[in-house]
Amino acid sequence: MAVDRHILWDSLGMDLETHDQLCAVLPQAFGDVFLSQENRPEGMAFWDMVVADVHGIRPQELVDEQAKGRKVFGTFCTYVPDEVVIAGDGIVTGLCGGSQFWVPEGEKYLPADMCPLIKASLGARLGRTCPFFRIVDQIVGETTCDGKKKMYEIMAEDVPMYIMNLPHMKRPQDIAAFADEIALFKANVEEVTGNEITAEKLAESIKIINERRKALARVFETRKNKDVIPISGTDALLMMQIAFFDDPVRCAQMANNLAAELEQRLVDGVSVFPKGTKRILLTGTPLAIPNWKLHHIIETAGAAIVCEENCTGTKFFTNLVDESQTTLEGMYQALAERYMKINCACFTPNKARIDEVLQLVKDYNVDGVINTNLKFCTTFKTEAPALEKVLEEAGIPVLDIETDYTDNDAGQLRTRVEAFVEMLG
Ligand code: SF4
Ligand code: SF4
Repeated sequence: MAVDRHILWDSLGMDLETHDQLCAVLPQAFGDVFLSQENRPEGMAFWDMVVADVHGIRPQELVDEQAKGRKVFGTFCTYVPDEVVIAGDGIVTGLCGGSQFWVPEGEKYLPADMCPLIKASLGARLGRTCPFFRIVDQIVGETTCDGKKKMYEIMAEDVPMYIMNLPHMKRPQDIAAFADEIALFKANVEEVTGNEITAEKLAESIKIINERRKALARVFETRKNKDVIPISGTDALLMMQIAFFDDPVRCAQMANNLAAELEQRLVDGVSVFPKGTKRILLTGTPLAIPNWKLHHIIETAGAAIVCEENCTGTKFFTNLVDESQTTLEGMYQALAERYMKINCACFTPNKARIDEVLQLVKDYNVDGVINTNLKFCTTFKTEAPALEKVLEEAGIPVLDIETDYTDNDAGQLRTRVEAFVEMLG
């Protein structure tokens, strides 16, 4: 029998009545999207369990750890180095809001023409309808897009907020500046946790996060096989979404277990899609939990997503941090070098993203690319034509989709995706 979490949520000062409305719709959405799939890998049972009690299991763990004196840091961006928090014996949890449920509350404080991820995130905190947002001891924001920067100012009135200054170019001096910023963040983590971060501790946490990267990459590796698709994109997305919330050691363990099963599926020829199913690479803005909308539409329209080039995909785990450094300064630089290889549209220039997409198209044997943009995300939208031009010149069909968290456009999107898949042959 499911555990009643109302005592936990009440102790976190949540708006129980409104939150119950969210709890009432999530199981249905999860069932429709995930449990309707056939032949899912057994390894997905772990993520099914987590998501079935998504506002219970992990929040309870975090509260239990806080009771032992540990601190919880909430983050919104793949540029924030988890390694530093873990080196201070802190815990990191992702916070990005992926549901329309939180958007109206966010719109009370933010302009309506702002990306839904930002509005949902603020709405979840100020509406007191997400336990993760209530649990955090401190939020770590970053200077990426303008919308998030301004949202953090409003959120900072309600919760302790630390902002990392992220450069917007990638010259050597920018990478050095980010290394300095990581050193400042280390001092912040020490202050919040009361724990000293030594070179040994940071070296250890660099290894932990590298192991998580390797495990997630191992799962993705199996998706490159051109004959067998051992896992749906929808399931792979769920693994990635929960990677932001989970303990990194357990995440690596579970991903490695899943990868082993998928590797065996490749040997046995067990595919979750019929032979010849068109292979899609999805690129663009991140898909925060529980945003499963596009994956569900695409994978029930006759295609399979074999790779996500975004922050809930390859950007999260590609490139390891150099483990050979022995001094804190050397590690700050190594961390900065790794993180500054993420190709976010907030940077200029960002041509490396186009090169990366082209490479992934080859690596994952992709038939077509779907470039997706969350409504009102100007940075990703602005660079879309350049990306699409290069793909077209390379003979790779591409579909451009702009959407939000509502289901208002689901029918229209389905029609467009079906036409695109048909066009792929
Ligand atoms: S898309 Fe850019 S701003 Fe958003 S999480 Fe990724 S790196 Fe951060
Ligand atoms: S999707 Fe775009 S606008 Fe929204 S938070 Fe990410 S970078 Fe900012």
